[in-house]
Amino acid sequence: MLSDIAVTPSQSLNVAYFSMEFGLDPAMPTYSGGLGILAGDTVRAAADNGLPMVCISLLHRKGYFRQHIDSSGNQTETEVDWAPEKFLQLLPARIIVPIGGKQLQVQVWRYLVHGQSGYDIPVYFLDTAVPENPKWEQSLSGQLYRNDPRYRIYQEAVLGLGGVAMLRALGYRVVHSYHMNEGHSALVTLALIEERMWGNSLSAVTEDDKEAVRQRCVFTTHTPIAAGHDEFPMPLVREVLGEERTNYLLTTGGCRNDTLNMSNLAVDFSRYINGVSMRHEAVSQCMYCNRAIDAEHCYVNGVTVPRAKIMPCQYSEHPIDAITNGVHAVTWASSALSKIYDHYIPEWRRDNRYLRYAIGIPLEVIWQAHQEAKQELFNEINRRTGITLKPDVMTLGFARRATGYKRTDLMFSDLNRLRQIVRQSGPLQIVCGGKAHPNDGSGKEIIRNIYKAAAELKDIIPVVYLEEYDMALAKYVCAGVDLWVNTPLKPLEASGTSGMKTALNGVPSLSILDGWWIEGHVEGVTGWSIDNGWQEESNREREIASLYDKLERLILPMYYKSPADFMTVMRYAISLNSSHFNAQRMVLQYLQNAYRNTGNS
Ligand SMILES: *Cc1c(COP(=O)(O)O)cnc(C)c1O
Repeated sequence: MLSDIAVTPSQSLNVAYFSMEFGLDPAMPTYSGGLGILAGDTVRAAADNGLPMVCISLLHRKGYFRQHIDSSGNQTETEVDWAPEKFLQLLPARIIVPIGGKQLQVQVWRYLVHGQSGYDIPVYFLDTAVPENPKWEQSLSGQLYRNDPRYRIYQEAVLGLGGVAMLRALGYRVVHSYHMNEGHSALVTLALIEERMWGNSLSAVTEDDKEAVRQRCVFTTHTPIAAGHDEFPMPLVREVLGEERTNYLLTTGGCRNDTLNMSNLAVDFSRYINGVSMRHEAVSQCMYCNRAIDAEHCYVNGVTVPRAKIMPCQYSEHPIDAITNGVHAVTWASSALSKIYDHYIPEWRRDNRYLRYAIGIPLEVIWQAHQEAKQELFNEINRRTGITLKPDVMTLGFARRATGYKRTDLMFSDLNRLRQIVRQSGPLQIVCGGKAHPNDGSGKEIIRNIYKAAAELKDIIPVVYLEEYDMALAKYVCAGVDLWVNTPLKPLEASGTSGMKTALNGVPSLSILDGWWIEGHVEGVTGWSIDNGWQEESNREREIASLYDKLERLILPMYYKSPADFMTVMRYAISLNSSHFNAQRMVLQYLQNAYRNTGNS
C-alpha cells in the first residue's frame, strides 16, 4: 500500500526520514539514547497519523554497548550481541555503492511500525555484513557511535549514499521530502546531487542544481554540543569519497578550514531547518550563523562586532524554525495509567491531545494508578539489585545519558544539606541511571560521584544507580518515581524528553529552565523550576541553593502534608503538559511546517 503511494507522483507528501539510530523495540539495541528514541517516537506517531513516510537507518549488529558498573561506580563496556533475524525481515534488494575506492554491497532489513489505526510505516536497516564485502567493510553495520572518524565517515556514507540508492531499489522513486534527523545523514544531499547529474561530472554542478536539491531536504538539529556535530578532515574525506566528490563538497557550505562538517552540509542543503524547542531555535541560529568568527564575535559589513553568547544572534543568516519534541504517549504511559486513560478518555490513543481532558479524572484515581506504577518500578529495582525501596517515601528520579552538561550529580553537591532536608521535611529515596559514552571521561566521573554520594548517604537516603538504562528501564523509572529532577547547564539542553515521559505519567519536574521546560513550566502548577529565568547563563551556586530550598520548603512538605495539592500538580502535568508535548502533535507540526512548506516562512 505504502509503496504505491510513494511511487505515485500525485501523492507528493511522502517523506524519507533518515536517522543513524532508531529506538523501536526495547530488545533491539539500535539506539543509544534521546536521538534514537525521538526517531522511534516520530515514526510511531507518523504511523498513528497515517503519514506516508519511510525510514532509513543502519543495522547496528553490536548495538551501542552494554554497561557494567563496579561497586565504586567505574563503568566498563562490552559489545551487545543480538539476532536481527528475530525482529527484522531480510529483503531481496541489494545495492552497490562506491565508497573508499571499493564497490560496497549493501543489503536491507525491514521493520514495520504499526500505527494506532492499522497503518504501517517501514523502517529499513542498511547492512554491509555480506560475504562479498571485505572484512572491515562488513563491520560497518556493527557498532553505533564508535569513536573512530574513519569508521564513522564510512558509516555515514553508507547511510546517506546507500540510503538514497536503496530507496530507489525498493521502488521509492519520487520522494517529496528527505528529512535528515541530525547531521549523520547529510551525505543524502550528495547522493541527490549525483542523481541529478546523471553520471556527468560533479564539476558541472550549478547553483540551480543545488537549489533543486535544497527544495527536497529538511534538517533537524538536536544539540548545541560539539560532539553531536561530526567533522572529518579533508584528507579522510578524499580517501573515502574520492577526488571528484570531495572537490564538489569543497564548493558547499559543508567545508570550512579543511574539514567537512556534516551539520553545516545539511544546513546548506535544506529548504527547512528546525531546532527542537523555542530556546534551541535561538541557540542554533547563533551556532549556524555564517557571520560568527568565534563564540563571542560576528563579522558584519567589514567589522567585528560582539554577539550575545546565548541570545539569538541578530546577525544570523540562517532561518531556523522550532518544532518542540514530544513523546509517543501510548509507548510511554505505564500500564496502570493507560487503563485509567482508556476508561476516562478513550480517544487518547488515537489523538494524544485528548489528554487535556485528564483534568476531569478524580485525583484519587490518578494517585492510585501512580502507586501501582511506583510499585512496579520498585519490584523491578528489587529484581535487578536486591534493594527494597519503600512505597510511602517520596522518590526522586533522574536518569539520562551521563555526560558533562547534564550534571546529574548536581543533586549531590552538599550531602550535609541533603541530610538536613530529610530531617527537616521528611524522608527521600533517589533513583538514578544512565550510560556514559565509552570515551566520555567526565560522564564516567559523574557516575563515580553519584556512587560516592550514595555510599555516604546510605544510612539516611537510599540512592540506587541502575545499570543499563534503556527503553525498558526508562518506562519503569519515568512512571514510577514521584518527582523528576533535571539539572542541565543552560542553554545546552536542546529539548529533553524524559520530563515529557514523566509528565505523561503524572510525575512533575523540578528542573532548570532550559529546553522544553521553558515552555512546559508553570510554577507550582505543572511542576517547579530550579532557579529563575531562562535567558541567563547557569549560576551553579544559585541553582544548587534553589534545588535544595524548593525540596525542603515547598515540595517535600506538600507531598507529605498536603497530598491533594501534590496530586493537583500531578494532574496538571498530565493535562497541560502531555496534551502538548507528545509525538503526535510534533509530527503534525512537521507536516504543516516542514513537509508541506517549501521554504522557511
Ligand atoms: C527518553 C530517553 C532518553 C532521553 O532523555 P533526555 O531527557 O532527552 O535526555 C535517553 N535514554 C533513554 C533510555 C530514554 O528512554
